[in-house]
Amino acid sequence: MARDLKVLIIGGGIGGLSAAIAIRFAGHSVTILEAEEEITEVGAGLQFSANATRILIKWGVDKLIVKDVHHLETNGAPFWDIHRHDLIKALHSMALELGAEVRVQSRVSDLDFGTGSVVLQNGEVLQGDLVIGADGLNSTCRKKLIPDDEEPEFTGDMAFRVLLNLEDLPPNDPDFLEITTRPQCTYWLGPSHHAIVYILRGGTQINLVAVVPDDLPRGVVRAPCDTGGVLKLFEGFDPLLLEIISQVPQTFKWKLRIRPELKKWSHDSGKFTLLGDAAHPTLPYLSQGAGITLEDAAVLGQLLTEPIPLAKVLAKYESIRRPRTTSVVKASSQQQYWYNLPDRPEQRERDRIMSAEIPQEEDPFLWKDPVFAPWLFGYDAHEEARKVVGKYPL
Ligand SMILES: Cc1cc2nc3c(=O)[nH]c(=O)nc-3n(C[C@H](O)[C@H](O)[C@H](O)COP(=O)(O)OP(=O)(O)OC[C@H]3O[C@@H](n4cnc5c(N)ncnc54)[C@H](O)[C@@H]3O)c2cc1C
Repeated sequence: MARDLKVLIIGGGIGGLSAAIAIRFAGHSVTILEAEEEITEVGAGLQFSANATRILIKWGVDKLIVKDVHHLETNGAPFWDIHRHDLIKALHSMALELGAEVRVQSRVSDLDFGTGSVVLQNGEVLQGDLVIGADGLNSTCRKKLIPDDEEPEFTGDMAFRVLLNLEDLPPNDPDFLEITTRPQCTYWLGPSHHAIVYILRGGTQINLVAVVPDDLPRGVVRAPCDTGGVLKLFEGFDPLLLEIISQVPQTFKWKLRIRPELKKWSHDSGKFTLLGDAAHPTLPYLSQGAGITLEDAAVLGQLLTEPIPLAKVLAKYESIRRPRTTSVVKASSQQQYWYNLPDRPEQRERDRIMSAEIPQEEDPFLWKDPVFAPWLFGYDAHEEARKVVGKYPL
């Protein structure tokens, strides 16, 4: 394989930036093409389990981020809660430091997979040896690769997000103090409704995600709403949850969408592949969307250090990543079933198993399942790529 490939990455989100870092480490030149005016992220918190933090630590990105650490060193690496803005800033500065070029206001409108050329909305044409489509859930690249691909699916759920600054909250409120002084994740589960709270930025912020049945019209994916309406939806829930929600007058609601599994991510020319949400958007119930996106980047970067023809690199990348990401997406949807259970005997059995001291196989809370959890969190993306290169003839 030629050294110093010219790699074009479409999208400057978590996926595009992490791919840029991994591929710069592999010694190739990288240009990110981002549609928006700046590299930024909407939303508040992100949780990263060991499979993802292991990668950030290896890259040295951990030193650039404020993170709240809980379950220290489970599955061989820590569990962190991170503000999205802090993560994207850290990934962006590391990509620049490593020599990646980042171009904003560069929306890609067309691609030629055979030649590796990319057309920007302003008509400019760029040429790469390898093009990576990291342009998210509504990916233009995916549509171009699989023209008859189905549109994103509605999952029936939508999410509200609330971010509170501790300094704006009632001082010495024992409930808030309990939340903010102990890095942990608190869940409330009820019929078709659930909420999750964790802290950010060293306990100076509280992050809430609340999920309810989707009532947004078709075609609307995000809309502002009064928290009065959210409080009504959570009537009868724990007063602490209601107190957190009531701290802000307004929030946004987001439709939660996924897409069916793709049968291929790459083009036969060996010049194009997909990465991140463009390939495998997932429900957030195992907090894995960004984590498995980092895994994609780490695997692809590691494979690109090897003297393998590009078409083989992409075949190996897909063979490592597609089965795993499909399983994670399925497991996250399975978690939706367990979180949304109506009050009935099955729900009482769920609660009994979930609250057991010793984790049980087929625990409805997959985070604790003694078979699934080590498989998910123990994954070492770099090692998986190295194993595949060593195992099969090239
Ligand atoms: C409520 C919620 C909570 C979540 N919580 C977690 C969590 O705790 N942990 C976790 O791991 N994951 C979580 N996720 C998932 C995570 O946010 C996503 O998986 C991740 O952000 C995907 O990154 P991406 O770079 O692939 O896509 P995106 O973030 O969508 O980035 C795509 C980028 O491409 C750009 N772009 C689009 N089209 C073009 C074009 N034509 N030309 C150029 N640029 C283009 C966009 O502007 C954007 O910057 C959560 C998701 C939701 C909805």
